[in-house]
Amino acid sequence: MKRKKVKIYYGNLFLLIGFVLILVICVIFLFKRLNLNNSDSKKESDTNNYKEVESHLLELGYNEKEAEVIVDNMSESDIMEMDKKYDKLSEYVTKKYFHIENMDRYLSLDKEYDIEEVIMRVNTNIDKPFYTDIKKIEDPSNLLVLVNKYNKLDEDYVPEDLVEVENGKYMRREAAEEMKSMINDLKSTGLYIQAQSGYRSYSYQEELYEGYVEKNGQKAADAESAKAGHSEHQTGLAMDLSIDGTLDESFGDTPQFDWLSDNAYKYGYILRYKKDKVYMTGYAYEPWHYRYVGVEAATIIHNEDITYEEYCVKYLGLY
Ligand SMILES: [Zn+2]
Repeated sequence: MKRKKVKIYYGNLFLLIGFVLILVICVIFLFKRLNLNNSDSKKESDTNNYKEVESHLLELGYNEKEAEVIVDNMSESDIMEMDKKYDKLSEYVTKKYFHIENMDRYLSLDKEYDIEEVIMRVNTNIDKPFYTDIKKIEDPSNLLVLVNKYNKLDEDYVPEDLVEVENGKYMRREAAEEMKSMINDLKSTGLYIQAQSGYRSYSYQEELYEGYVEKNGQKAADAESAKAGHSEHQTGLAMDLSIDGTLDESFGDTPQFDWLSDNAYKYGYILRYKKDKVYMTGYAYEPWHYRYVGVEAATIIHNEDITYEEYCVKYLGLY
């Protein structure tokens, strides 16, 4: 009796173990299959993202090895993040004057302007308020020096080759020679013009600016005058021209101004502060202010009807 009972017990136990074993195998198999599917699709989407990023990196000038290293070191969230950016980046990289360093700033203006305009605005810095992130000018004696509200001349900078144009007004030699010819040729048409304000020292500009602030307040002063170090007059390459000693917008309606508009570039001069580009130059319209940049640059600026800032982006690599 006792033995029979044990036999039955063992028989059931084997059946139970067999059943459990089959169940476990089934569960493991199912689980594995599910998992495999998951990681397969994940791998696939990863590979696509990586590939896309890699091809953009190649477009940006990285070689294959570099692109591989960069991509290998990026987390998935990095990849997704860049992928979003690259939606726009692929449009931007094909544009002239694009610089990857400025990408975040481009994107912040992206909805407001078309891409070319965005790049120009950012590269010329005007997405930032005037007088912010001011750079010290390293090469002040360069004839193509850019002086504006983002680029400042050193307090001590005085050009070494200042000569008199007329009436105690000075410019650098090359600019002065061309200015004299320009004035003479304008006068030979029967019109009158005179040099009104040429080279100005840092300290004199400081006085001028402070005078403006006292008289009209900071805001008006910033629109009409330059802070010391930010005036082109300190370069010895700028001249204010006048008929009767006054400097105001009415000069823009005179035949002298028309003649200068047609001819100044032939002497290497440009109208620096144009009427429709105040947002870019940071200065009010100044029909009397002429800047020497040499005939080659002046001709391009005249033909393309652009500001000096735009010229610097397009031809001098400013960004
Ligand atoms: Zn001026």
